[in-house]
Amino acid sequence: MAFQLDPRTPSGPLEHRWSKAKQEMKLVSPANRRKYTVIVVGSGLAGGSAAATLGELGYNVKCFCFQDSPRRAHSIAAQGGINAAKNYQNDGDSIYRLFYDTIKGGDFRSRESNVYRLAEVSVNIIDQCVAQGVPFAREYGGTLANRSFGGAQVSRTFYARGQTGQQLLLGCYQALERQVDAGRVEMFYRHEMLDLVVIGGRARGIVTRNLVTGSIDCHVADAVVLATGGYGNVFYLSTNAKGSNATAIWRAYKRGAGFGNPCFTQIHPTCIPQSGDYQSKLTLMSESLRNDGRIWVPKQKGDTRNPNDIPEEERDYYLERIYPAFGNLCPRDIASRAAKMMCDQGYGVGPGGRGVYLDFKEAIGRLGRKTIEERYGNLFEMYERITGEDPYTVPMRIYPAVHYTMGGLWVDYNLQSTIPGLFVLGEANFSDHGANRLGASALMQGLADGYFIIPYTIGHFLAQVKPGDVSAEQEEFRAARQEVEQRTRRLLSIRGKKTVDDFHRELGKIMWEHCGMARNAAGLKHALEKIPGLREEFWQNVNVPGSGEELNQSLEKAGRVADFFELAELMCLDALEREESCGGHFREEHQTEEGEAKRDDERFCHVAVWEHTGDGQRPARHVEPLNFEFVHLAQRSYK
Ligand SMILES: Cc1cc2nc3c(=O)[nH]c(=O)nc-3n(C[C@H](O)[C@H](O)[C@H](O)COP(=O)(O)OP(=O)(O)OC[C@H]3O[C@@H](n4cnc5c(N)ncnc54)[C@H](O)[C@@H]3O)c2cc1C
Repeated sequence: MAFQLDPRTPSGPLEHRWSKAKQEMKLVSPANRRKYTVIVVGSGLAGGSAAATLGELGYNVKCFCFQDSPRRAHSIAAQGGINAAKNYQNDGDSIYRLFYDTIKGGDFRSRESNVYRLAEVSVNIIDQCVAQGVPFAREYGGTLANRSFGGAQVSRTFYARGQTGQQLLLGCYQALERQVDAGRVEMFYRHEMLDLVVIGGRARGIVTRNLVTGSIDCHVADAVVLATGGYGNVFYLSTNAKGSNATAIWRAYKRGAGFGNPCFTQIHPTCIPQSGDYQSKLTLMSESLRNDGRIWVPKQKGDTRNPNDIPEEERDYYLERIYPAFGNLCPRDIASRAAKMMCDQGYGVGPGGRGVYLDFKEAIGRLGRKTIEERYGNLFEMYERITGEDPYTVPMRIYPAVHYTMGGLWVDYNLQSTIPGLFVLGEANFSDHGANRLGASALMQGLADGYFIIPYTIGHFLAQVKPGDVSAEQEEFRAARQEVEQRTRRLLSIRGKKTVDDFHRELGKIMWEHCGMARNAAGLKHALEKIPGLREEFWQNVNVPGSGEELNQSLEKAGRVADFFELAELMCLDALEREESCGGHFREEHQTEEGEAKRDDERFCHVAVWEHTGDGQRPARHVEPLNFEFVHLAQRSYK
């Protein structure tokens, strides 16, 4: 085994662990901070908040993103809200309850210490964002408003209409720009990280391609932070921004960073159904809609009547029926599987019977159209633009779609990967959500990581190393840069017959069919046979037009899809090895009589951490056991 999996979990009472850890961490004095260079790859909510905070502390920060502005990071798409245990509603919320809901929501596959810390700092995030001027929705009297999200029986979700991510990102962007202006953060727009440089077992820099000029450059640092988002686009169709990709974490994996639970993918229950084979993306309808929308299917199979003509007694509000305690607000994995089950049994609606209704009629009757407009106006407008149907008068049609990846690079309690000096934040790491993330918890985690955790833990690391003792002239940098150049040239030289999208679409189909909402051993083995063949064909027959010395989006995509091929194989392998069902990982062989996920705590109460052992070699699977000291492991129930 090449790497040690020490989660560095503090001991003692749960509620004192983070304070104790902070107390014990070493510090870099203010005068010494500018001697250290930190690279932050990513300027979404996780990376942007980290870069701004580290700049504010006085470190010399270089921040990279592939978009033309940090404001275009995928985080901007987040709609529904961000959780925090403020208990403003006086409805029984607490840090412990948010912690418990998150552990249970993740089907007991995350670390207690991390999740408790997340719940603890959630309250600081809201204060920080309010101070930045984020326009959260407010009650009539001026206090911050809340709504509910899945897997919770309290209202703890703070929101800015259906544009919460955008508003949080603007707050974060202002903080970042302030540091850019102060000269503490140097921003590299339109730069893509294509490799990680490891010297003497430590992360010492990255190789990037300037996406406008094609220039390939090396950047040296004392520590590297990856905050590069999730990899749901491995499925081709997902709710993620088209540019979201796995390249940064994949190249880090190939340089020695362990990959945690790669198969843990979240399928979101409320997306606009796919409408054709050549669609390039799917659109989310925020989970917040389930606060007021009621999900149903006709009681009669194959009923093609206009939904408004189907009387109440002929409708099955199946979530309210099966899960009366949580109803329409049961967690995403459960709501998604229930929708699939209804459609598989023939109750689905719309083209191909792949849809269920999300109906606001009752809420509009109770609250009035104006209130619904205020709460969800932009989402309704988006739905109407895409489908041509008016959701104020006709129920929305929705179906589950790939949305988020709980898997990612393995990190310890300090958010450090298995490579010393390489830290991973936000959706790019595997950490806090176990096998299923609760709604409104990704923004919470990204900002917790960036604003409140990394400033302490990276300081602790840097305080123990000498600043600036490597240069870009060193052999390791030169070799990594050469590899990037060769790979780029190779992609451009194939000049085959199929587009990058052709290959990506085919890969996505394999993944959705065999490693999607339901998985089984035969399907996963089949996928593991098909993917290498398709990957081989990609390297023989892909057509990447243009050159490497210019803006070339086909080339960008080709590099990302090449990495998706390799990651897809690891995901299938991980899904095959985990012979249990938990959260979003539903192995058909392992289910209860009622069709719920059946965990095997005896054999799988652990994080699976994969180690790259060389191209063409089977990666090594290691485990980090999960110890539950404070929470009783139970069969999840939302009934
Ligand atoms: C439609 C939608 C709605 C959502 N709504 C919510 C919600 O309401 N609440 C919630 O909690 N969560 C929500 N989520 C999830 C949440 O938005 C994401 O998990 C979160 O924003 C991820 O933030 P991040 O900073 O980790 O990554 P991102 O925002 O994806 O940022 C990644 C950054 O990394 C950069 N990058 C990536 N690769 C490279 C590379 N190789 N080189 C250089 N730069 C690179 C990008 O340029 C970008 O700056 C939603 C997700 C979707 C898809």
